[in-house]
Amino acid sequence: MISVDAAETIILNAAQPLGLEVEQVPLHRAIGGLLAKSVESVLDFPHWDNSAMDGYAVRYADVANACEDNPIELEVITEIPAGSIPQGSIRSGQAARILTGSMLPEGTDTVVMQEWTTRSGDRLHINQSPPQSGHFVRHQGSFYRSGEPLLRSGLRIGGPEIAVLAAAQCLMVPVFKKLRVGVLSTGDELVLPDQVLQPGQIVDSNQIALLALLSQAGFEAIALGSVKDDRTSLKQAMEDGIDRCDVVISSGGVSVGDYDYVEELLDELGGEVLIRSIAIKPGKPLTFATFPEEKLYFGLPGNPVSALVTFWRFVLPALRKRSGQTSPWSPLFVTAITHQPLKSDGKRENYLWGTILGSGDDLQFCPAMGSGSSGNLVNLAGSTGLAVIPVGRTMVEAGDRISVMLVAGSP
Ligand code: AMP
Ligand code: MG
Repeated sequence: MISVDAAETIILNAAQPLGLEVEQVPLHRAIGGLLAKSVESVLDFPHWDNSAMDGYAVRYADVANACEDNPIELEVITEIPAGSIPQGSIRSGQAARILTGSMLPEGTDTVVMQEWTTRSGDRLHINQSPPQSGHFVRHQGSFYRSGEPLLRSGLRIGGPEIAVLAAAQCLMVPVFKKLRVGVLSTGDELVLPDQVLQPGQIVDSNQIALLALLSQAGFEAIALGSVKDDRTSLKQAMEDGIDRCDVVISSGGVSVGDYDYVEELLDELGGEVLIRSIAIKPGKPLTFATFPEEKLYFGLPGNPVSALVTFWRFVLPALRKRSGQTSPWSPLFVTAITHQPLKSDGKRENYLWGTILGSGDDLQFCPAMGSGSSGNLVNLAGSTGLAVIPVGRTMVEAGDRISVMLVAGSP
């Protein structure tokens, strides 16, 4: 049995970036993709000096001494709505009505927000001086200079990245082909969600959940089905999965039970088994192997919570790295104060699921109500974090600080 940190190191060392093929996809289909080349723009951002406020474009020197008792009077000679090109130049003693995003007219260097002014016809009084020249002006190129990298290769494309690509008029986006990840379930007791349950049977929830998490995280999720606890069929299914996919994730069949064949079959199929068990709870029997052509195999425990916890803790970081995503690959950990006492056996790094409340430096962890059994997938629903109790610690008192791994919505 090796530690969680040692296991993570072994897995991330084996999961080198694959150098997947690059394809061009239209911008509207790029969400979730992995940027395969750095993107540059011929445009500066902002494209021109513009106003950050609704107000008046002025010459700073004219208004530097303005105050409530000594308002400065200016003449408004023009108005510049967003999208229009300013005509003429503003001279000393003059101002231009300007709206947020409008181009700054020639001769001006500062914007005075509307709230600091009073106006009557074309007469404008500035009642407060801006703190410095350039106030409320968004200068050309101050966000980004043309020719520099705008978005770097290896970035996962989410909503903000789509916005940047659209603003840069990047219509076709270079993305890596998706990593092919197969999901296989093992167990005589498993049935599909739409089948009638007989006594002793349960739904193969792991397969559905893992496929969904993989798609959500931007991978090509391949359903490899569910196989009975039969050596020959399992071997065939594993071999087929390794053949077809870059990474295979199976669940079940990795414990010490009579029908737990996964580990020995990995040996038989020519895999190099690098991890046979990890000092983690839940998830101790996690098995990890590599195959020729740098293929990876994760044998997750069957218990639904164990399968998901080990997926989040070990599999997802490896898939991120393998697909070419830039680091950090590992989950995010925050410090929170636990609402209730947390117990552990002290022998394994213990991950307890629950929700994180609060914000900033004042985060609290509330363990899920009900059974903390690794077979209880019901109260895992709604969890947003896993409190981590290190090896050697048996008790965390209510009010103590604890490290919590973020899980929900963190692709
Ligand atoms: P195993 O690791 O095969 O010994 O399975 C441990 C527990 O997890 C057993 O109670 C199984 O019924 C359950 N289990 C195994 N595979 C799945 C699955 N795909 N979906 C839901 N539960 C499973
Ligand atoms: Mg089983």
